[in-house]
Amino acid sequence: MSTPVPTPEIVHVHTLRVSCDGASEIRGGAALGHPRVWMEIDERGYVDCGYCDKRFILDGTAPDSETGKPGH
Ligand SMILES: [Zn+2]
Repeated sequence: MSTPVPTPEIVHVHTLRVSCDGASEIRGGAALGHPRVWMEIDERGYVDCGYCDKRFILDGTAPDSETGKPGH
């Protein structure tokens, strides 16, 4: 008997700028979503959609992004 825990959906992305309409994965389910919003992933490395709580996580870093960072 599994407990139905409502875990927020997590999407791994490769760009800092992401869009969400809540139904991009649902075939013909645009009506089930929400108005498309654009968000930018901040220094935490992720951003949550304010409409559907979907979490977008920046997946990895570009090789050339390691250079130019002060310290570390
Ligand atoms: Zn959303």
